[in-house]
Amino acid sequence: MWLDLDAEQQSILSSLRNFLQRKVAPGSSERDRSGQFPAGLVRELGELGLMGACTPQDLGGSGLSTRTFALILEEIAAVDGSLCLTVASHNSLCQGHLLQAGSPEQRSEFVPGLASGRELGAWALTEPGSGSDSGGLSTRATQSGSDWVLNGAKSFITQGSVGEVYVVMARTDPPRPGKSKTDGISAFVFRRSQVQGLRTGRHEEKLGLRSSDTAQLFFEDLRLPASSLLGNRGRAFADVMRVLDGGRIGIASMAIGLGRAALEAALAYTTQRVQFGQPVALHQHNSFQLADMATELEAARLLVQKAADLRDAGRPHSVPAAQAKLFASEAGVRACDHAIQLLGGYGYLCDYPVERYWRDNRLTRIGEGTSEIQRIIISRELVRAHLAPSPVSSA
Ligand SMILES: Cc1cc2nc3c(=O)[nH]c(=O)nc-3n(C[C@H](O)[C@H](O)[C@H](O)COP(=O)(O)OP(=O)(O)OC[C@H]3O[C@@H](n4cnc5c(N)ncnc54)[C@H](O)[C@@H]3O)c2cc1C
Repeated sequence: MWLDLDAEQQSILSSLRNFLQRKVAPGSSERDRSGQFPAGLVRELGELGLMGACTPQDLGGSGLSTRTFALILEEIAAVDGSLCLTVASHNSLCQGHLLQAGSPEQRSEFVPGLASGRELGAWALTEPGSGSDSGGLSTRATQSGSDWVLNGAKSFITQGSVGEVYVVMARTDPPRPGKSKTDGISAFVFRRSQVQGLRTGRHEEKLGLRSSDTAQLFFEDLRLPASSLLGNRGRAFADVMRVLDGGRIGIASMAIGLGRAALEAALAYTTQRVQFGQPVALHQHNSFQLADMATELEAARLLVQKAADLRDAGRPHSVPAAQAKLFASEAGVRACDHAIQLLGGYGYLCDYPVERYWRDNRLTRIGEGTSEIQRIIISRELVRAHLAPSPVSSA
């Protein structure tokens, strides 16, 4: 349960739940089997204002807070994890980067189409040779007259084959002396329909989130005008980190939504299923498992709420976002695993949704920085703060 929902949040959630139950829930399992990307549902979510949820209203968005967006993502994930990943990445990554670093001209050229859901956004950082170590990317952008020419490849790109607007990170310059290898990386934005030299690899077959679109991208002498440079030349990595801070709050909410769905399915089943003369929910080990699932998901919500509120207040939130993602994804996957166990053999069958929740939720421990990378972010700051000289007392 979220604390203190205001009237606007209650109204958004109530109409969203209605939409999800009528339009999304009936086809979730079938789309999981077929892997069919739900373009029609995405368009309808655009009409509901959710494809530009936190985007300012003057750019065609809904101008919602990060906290409200987190609520929305939890609700969508509880019904369809794939759709949640589509909405989360479209809003937080591609659109988030444009809002973070775009010039006024770039924002007005690209954001309204994205915010309406008429165009989908993809954000391409990961490469075959660089995932967690994303500063080691090898895609290159070189200057040719006033143009840029991109060569390289990207992996695992959400909306990679269904996107129209792409934000791509590439190296334009060597790191300056004394700087880390993340220095010299730039970001570019372009429309797929306006370029040549962008090739999409195969649609990736995945363990879960099967109706979200994931594809490799190849840049083969892809020529871009100077106006495609997004943010300052060679300084994109700071923007990338801020974009990921926001994205991680979304992935944490997704983990909670899937975990919540698993808890609800486990409660529905275990209160009906009788073994040894009583509902299996009442066997103490099982009731304790249900209690742990509910408690961990609630704790995860509070971490998400804290990170979202700090982001909305414009305060630093890299560590709170990393903590929210780390805890929520681990707790969410654990809840799904418990749910499978609580349903016994039926939990292992595709007739019940809990195996899908587990498969879908497994991504949240990997995408937008693995759990190990979140621990590095958190512990690095702990050590830095511990070693920092304490402020000199004025007494
Ligand atoms: C479904 C899906 C959608 C995705 N969408 C996008 C997208 O839209 N855009 C995008 O750019 N990327 C996307 N990604 C990529 C995702 O962000 C990466 O998969 C993730 O960051 C991990 O990188 P990697 O897969 O290369 O793993 P690696 O970095 O190779 O890591 C392998 C293992 O080593 C561990 N490890 C690595 N370094 C360390 C270390 N220093 N200390 C301890 N452990 C370490 C990792 O935690 C992991 O367990 C997506 C991935 C998936 C699966």
